[in-house]
Amino acid sequence: MKEKVVYWLTGSQTLYGDDVLAHVAQHSKEMADYVNEKMPVTVKYLTTCKSSEEIIAAVKQVNADENCVGIITWCHTFSPAKMWIKGLHMLQKPMCHFATQYNEKLPYDTIDMDFMNENQAAHGDREFGYIVSRLRMDNKVIVGYYKDEAALKELAAWCKVAAGYAFSKTVKVCRFSDNMRNVAVTEGDKVEAHIGFGWEVDYYPVGDLVEYVEKVTEKEVDALMAEYAKKYTMGTDRVDVVREQAKYEIAIDKFCKDKGGYIGIVDHFGALKGLNQLPGLAIQDLQSKGYGFGAEGDWKIAALGAVMQYMAGQKGTGLMEDYTYDLKDGLCLGAHMLEVSPQFAATKPEIQVHPLGIGGKSDPARLVFEGISAPEAVAVSMIDMGDRMRLIVQKIELIKYPKKMPNLPVGGLMWKYTASSAELVAAWRYAGGAPHTVVSSQLSVQDMVDLGNMWGIEVVVIDEHTEINQFKKDLMYSDVIWKNK
Ligand code: MN
Repeated sequence: MKEKVVYWLTGSQTLYGDDVLAHVAQHSKEMADYVNEKMPVTVKYLTTCKSSEEIIAAVKQVNADENCVGIITWCHTFSPAKMWIKGLHMLQKPMCHFATQYNEKLPYDTIDMDFMNENQAAHGDREFGYIVSRLRMDNKVIVGYYKDEAALKELAAWCKVAAGYAFSKTVKVCRFSDNMRNVAVTEGDKVEAHIGFGWEVDYYPVGDLVEYVEKVTEKEVDALMAEYAKKYTMGTDRVDVVREQAKYEIAIDKFCKDKGGYIGIVDHFGALKGLNQLPGLAIQDLQSKGYGFGAEGDWKIAALGAVMQYMAGQKGTGLMEDYTYDLKDGLCLGAHMLEVSPQFAATKPEIQVHPLGIGGKSDPARLVFEGISAPEAVAVSMIDMGDRMRLIVQKIELIKYPKKMPNLPVGGLMWKYTASSAELVAAWRYAGGAPHTVVSSQLSVQDMVDLGNMWGIEVVVIDEHTEINQFKKDLMYSDVIWKNK
């Protein structure tokens, strides 16, 4: 992510004279360099903008730079905002308005009008804020001294999300099946997703994949089996079954790379003609390497998973499905038929072979493990409301399994909701959240809200502040707003 760049643009004007402007430029560079050290991306001071023409030129550079994922703006001095209108209209990247200062404290003993003229972000940033608000532009406002740890943490999170937003535009999903028959929530408008998120979602008959599977060599399988042996415990003597999964993994990976760089994969247990097993271990290991995965034709989750994996640095993130509750203790056990990412493993994953009651295929190999705990995680669903996409973000706490579950033949996660679980489960139902989610222990609710805002879509948050009657009203208001957008 450090290859990605966020440019720092400082707003000013010519009125101040060369001396002050030289200070503004020098301070801005110093601040950008300091901030850069703390960011997951590279932050670079670009220029001090003093006219409409300069801002247009800077924005053209920002837009054209493939590595640039966003800009940070700040007005050290006053910057008349009419000169920002044309440039901001052209801006195609996310913007963070960092309401900061070169100085933390006032120099009480020496402060004079020269200092006031040179250090008036409190004043200049408001003029800038007005025009951004007037233009109805999405932007993130972060307030604080530029060396303040809390402000830097917020800025680092925003930079990560801006990089995720740019990554989203590159996401391609390879779909070996259409949606599962009769299922509604995994449906959606792929053209809208292409326009809004940049996702290219393409279908291939599973037979095309079977041709790749048939071409995998024993030597390639040996190499991947050696990799498995390093990472996982072999808990079965049915090695042929495991080798079959290794073949699938090699074939899917090669297929995705050959066909133009797919980073999302979709299959369906009911559309496997030519394959003996449902890909389980294969998909689990591919998720551990950064692929997003959606089951039963769920391309939205595959794409969202790939984006969230990128933002999370390929840790603690993957497909999840709410399975079954412990209603007494307010807990949920999440899992899937097979395909739970080993990024969620708290125990060393064990390769096991068990029958699969659904789909009518041979017993598949899969990784079995207990899930990680994390005090703050998110479960995210994306649904198509017919006239827009809705992102539903729920705060959850991942916990250790309260008891061993020796007969559970899959990897799983357990979580509790962060407040009254009945109310929060109800909120998920009212919002229309899907059973499939992407869970991440590395991303926050705020990260997902910021991403949703960059995408310009409806975002619904379910957390400890959710009050069910207000929540239902908010959904109604939101519906009116988004219908008219
Ligand atoms: Mn499912």
